Amino acid sequence: MAGETAKLNAFPVFMRVDGRRVVIIGGGEEALAKARLMAQSAAEILVVAEAPEPALVNWGAANGVTLVRAPYEAAHLDGAALAFAATGEERSDRAVVADARARAIPANAVDRPELCDFFTPALVNRAPVAVAIGTEGAGPVLAQMIRARIDRMLSPSLGRLAVLAASYRDAVERRLAKGVVRRRFWKAFFTGGPARAIEAGNARRAAEAAEALLLAQGAEPGHVALVGAGPGAEDLLTLRAQRLLMEADVIVHDALVPEAVVAMGRRDAERIAAGKRKGCHSKTQAEINELLVALGRAGKRVVRLKSGDPLVFGRAGEEMAALRDAGISYEVVPGVTAAFAAAADFELPLTLRGVASSMVFTTGHDLKGVALPDWAKLAIEGATVAVYMGRSTAAEVAGRLREAGLSRDTAVAVVENASLGKRRLFHGTLSDLPALEKRTDLAGPVLTIIGDAVAGANFTRSESLAAWHETGARIPAQEE
Ligand code: SAH
Repeated sequence: MAGETAKLNAFPVFMRVDGRRVVIIGGGEEALAKARLMAQSAAEILVVAEAPEPALVNWGAANGVTLVRAPYEAAHLDGAALAFAATGEERSDRAVVADARARAIPANAVDRPELCDFFTPALVNRAPVAVAIGTEGAGPVLAQMIRARIDRMLSPSLGRLAVLAASYRDAVERRLAKGVVRRRFWKAFFTGGPARAIEAGNARRAAEAAEALLLAQGAEPGHVALVGAGPGAEDLLTLRAQRLLMEADVIVHDALVPEAVVAMGRRDAERIAAGKRKGCHSKTQAEINELLVALGRAGKRVVRLKSGDPLVFGRAGEEMAALRDAGISYEVVPGVTAAFAAAADFELPLTLRGVASSMVFTTGHDLKGVALPDWAKLAIEGATVAVYMGRSTAAEVAGRLREAGLSRDTAVAVVENASLGKRRLFHGTLSDLPALEKRTDLAGPVLTIIGDAVAGANFTRSESLAAWHETGARIPAQEE
């Protein structure tokens, strides 16, 4: 509710602990947990325990912890910045807290919030950047859940980027006017060229990009990411794809990418549907190439979102060539391709020991001329064949494989809308495949897998391909 923020009983602060000592009293699991947490800082850690558990002893020895094997005495706390009571016994914990307070040392008693002067956070550590999550001891599990979410959102290299940023602070103050220009510089620094170079592990290129950004007064050149959106399920997006979507100025997406995935992008990002579905007003590939180049030239951060993996039947080659020719920087983010999603839905091993040890990604769409396609030969030799865009050319594909000598009994699996709730699975043999072309009940994208490895799939959730007749009526189950 606006204007009615509840008050925190525990206020988060970042405390300097480098070169200072933190004392943990206790020798069990809780003490070890606190030691691990504090070891994420540069504090000197002292553990006091009469009979420490081996796990604590070993971990402590490997991590520079000073272990005092002695009964606890108040003097152990002298000079500490923080004190932890982790004895596991309430009376002892109380005594430690009382001794700490007498020395004006803030104390934390593990699992006894009522005794705590401070709480430890769930921590996302990208030193020097830290995100600390606190619930005032009310919900450690909740805190861990939030921690995991934030952890996924932040690039693993964020800390290194922050260190680089610190080294540019003076230069920015000297060379860029306060206000808009400086803000623009830092935004471009943290999401643009320097960030990408650091993420790629190239410190030299990051420094060059930062230098160029200074010269350009923070005006960042455009960048296009060709991003695989996966087969459709939102949670099959990669973390990197998600991060880029959240940073994008413009998202250019294909019709096959579901709205729910596009919606994971930054809310105020411009969205452009590039079409490519029957019946839609769609752009030609040349128009898409031009659009990407124009957006890049305008300094936009563009996500070109393609279904599955961008490099599998995604025409990414043409887009990359156009960007390269125009001198616009780009990157490629892989995605889960439809064949893998379909195989997963069918629990179908694409390679199977002694049966299939190679795999073909193909499409029926460029079957022209009289020569047999090369992949037909591979299928004879036992390759598993994944056919993209295969519905409208099912008869042609089946014909070519039969011509090449593949048995009409070879197993075939067909998945419509792989990975999505509305998916449909079908199984049959090569002789059933031609009929797929005539099916009017399959409106979604369809992927076909052909080969002996298909026999290893799970057919308990799939319908028989042979059971469908042109009338659209299905033969009752007992006849399947
Ligand atoms: N780059 C994409 C392929 C684009 S071509 C990828 O790597 O998956 C479009 C074809 O992909 C469709 O005709 C269909 O054969 C396949 N496809 C894409 N998504 C699919 C899905 N969810 N289920 C089944 N097939 C799919």
